[in-house]
Amino acid sequence: MDCVGRIIDAVQDINDNWGITIVPGAEITHAPAEIIPKLAKKAKELGAEVIVVHGETLVEPVIEGTNWAAVNCPDVDILAHPGLITYEEAEIAKENNITLEISSRRGHSLGNGHVGKVALEVGANLIIDTDTHSPSDLINYETAYSYGLGAGLPEKEVKKALTTNPERILKNKGLL
Ligand SMILES: [Zn+2]
Repeated sequence: MDCVGRIIDAVQDINDNWGITIVPGAEITHAPAEIIPKLAKKAKELGAEVIVVHGETLVEPVIEGTNWAAVNCPDVDILAHPGLITYEEAEIAKENNITLEISSRRGHSLGNGHVGKVALEVGANLIIDTDTHSPSDLINYETAYSYGLGAGLPEKEVKKALTTNPERILKNKGLL
């Protein structure tokens, strides 16, 4: 079974047996920029509902052009930790309804101030995510709220990034 298939199996098991709702997704990470559209399409075909691209974080050698490829791919829902994203890329993200991530993850979070500023100036949507690799990475609403404020977002925008914007992603897919 492919990787996405195994994740979907695990998600179904959790949704059937635990009191939480999980949505399967895929994060396209360290892929050659030119094959991002192909991988995004494939992940969707395999059943991933939310498509994320691992953006050009300041703390890893992500292939240059990854942010550009991600914002130009309408199959992508979220460009994660896009580091020093340009105004042009953020504008394209807005046009293609791709949400930009403020990350609570150590390291990736170093770009949050810039990401927030650029997104607000062009009117691109933001989301506050955890990039969770282990349970200790998970945060509650209050912590996420303070991280949003720490990224320089006004309260109204923090609320949007924590409620309206993630809900919109799920609603567009008929998941909410
Ligand atoms: Zn990532």
